Amino acid sequence: MGKRANIAILGGGILGLSAAYNCLSRGLGDVTVYESDEEPGGLARTFEVCGTRLEMYHHFLCDTDRVILNQMSEFGLSEHIKWGDCRMGMFSSGRQWDFTTPLDLLRFGALSLTSRLRFGLAMLLLQRKTDWRPLESVSATRWLKRWTGERAYEVVWSHLMKSKFDCFEDQIPLSWLWARTTRRAGSKREGSALEHFGYVSGSVAILIDEYMKRIAQMGGEVRTECKVTGIERTREGEFQIESKLGKRVHRAVISSIPLPALLSAVDFFPDGYRTRLASIRYQTVLNMSIILKRPFSKFFWLNIGDSAIPFPGIIEFSHLRPEFDGRSVIYLPNYLPEEHRLNSLSDEELFDQFVEALGRISPGFTADQIESFHVFRHPHADPYYTLNYSKLLPEHSTLFKRFYIYNTAQIYPITRNVSNSILFGQDAARLLEKDLKG
Ligand SMILES: Cc1cc2nc3c(=O)[nH]c(=O)nc-3n(C[C@H](O)[C@H](O)[C@H](O)COP(=O)(O)OP(=O)(O)OC[C@H]3O[C@@H](n4cnc5c(N)ncnc54)[C@H](O)[C@@H]3O)c2cc1C
Repeated sequence: MGKRANIAILGGGILGLSAAYNCLSRGLGDVTVYESDEEPGGLARTFEVCGTRLEMYHHFLCDTDRVILNQMSEFGLSEHIKWGDCRMGMFSSGRQWDFTTPLDLLRFGALSLTSRLRFGLAMLLLQRKTDWRPLESVSATRWLKRWTGERAYEVVWSHLMKSKFDCFEDQIPLSWLWARTTRRAGSKREGSALEHFGYVSGSVAILIDEYMKRIAQMGGEVRTECKVTGIERTREGEFQIESKLGKRVHRAVISSIPLPALLSAVDFFPDGYRTRLASIRYQTVLNMSIILKRPFSKFFWLNIGDSAIPFPGIIEFSHLRPEFDGRSVIYLPNYLPEEHRLNSLSDEELFDQFVEALGRISPGFTADQIESFHVFRHPHADPYYTLNYSKLLPEHSTLFKRFYIYNTAQIYPITRNVSNSILFGQDAARLLEKDLKG
């Protein structure tokens, strides 16, 4: 067996691009990336606004995102990484509250003093845990109700959990919440009252473009608008990929596409394996980005603790990245089950509902402060993490030699993000190299 392969990479999101770049850098063979969208980037794709690029979904960095920081440095792009200090808030009982520091929590009048203290202690307790494994069989909702109290759950968590997980609300493992709170806790600076986040100046498009340039320089091809519709295994143990390019045979495949997309294309997975992969369900994401003539609030992130508001949070990204020609940029993201009623509304219907809700959060806010709005939807934003999720996770090496699965559903319990996807791309190339040598 040769040490080089004709490699197919399914999906041209960050993971697929990182895998392509690393396979080429290691000289593992010819690389074709199959991407169904008209542009690469996946969930980190950008669009043009105010003379710059902006991520379709909010993207910020934490200190712990070392892999993207190292990748940007390796590409000579570190100057594009910027950092800023941000305020967090909570909308509850009809008003906006500061919600960054312990002192803010003590002043949070939507809860009784006892509830506030219980809430603070419970969060501290969770952040102190170092092993996530015992936490994954515990329901986050039940744990929160028990340790922070029913009232604090209702005021702080209920809307977030319901809108993010809907009927799965009780099934979400505490390990998910643990990973989320510890990642955010890492963004606090000693002595600072604010949270510290990073971003890519000019957007993640800077990184995507650099991958594209380097992949092309090394002879790889990234084929966009090229959905993989069929994957068969040949008698020689190779893989025939069907797309608009016709049927092409590859000796190795790295699949970075969501599991449902993979399962609808592949025809040779045995039933038991297929059923296991199919049991991982995904949430959709629906986001409205709004460009405003002036700031909406003083908060970078305003959590919404009011179930009458049709989104669980407002991210005013321009407080972190002030690169929009004096305009303000807000994101209103919603993770939803596919059948959620918001997914059936037109962009205009959503706009009317969201603007009305913004007016309730900030009295005086009216639609004439809006310069433009943009709606983005994606069917596979995130898996539903269920209790004991780690037991469902497929290995990266499959039952079939040189056919690998690397995707966001396997990033657990740490929160999936761009940094992890870059790392998975690097790992995939390393594993393929090892198998080719072996
Ligand atoms: C609302 C939101 C906020 C986020 N915030 C942050 C953040 O603040 N910081 C951060 O670091 N990360 C954030 N992320 C996560 C980050 O965007 C993802 O983790 C990362 O982009 C995933 O990249 P990926 O390549 O693994 O997957 P994807 O981006 O999902 O890429 C998969 C690719 O496969 C393609 N594809 C699917 N089916 C097929 C097919 N049949 N044939 C060919 N191609 C196919 C898709 O078009 C897509 O391009 C956020 C994500 C969302 C949705």
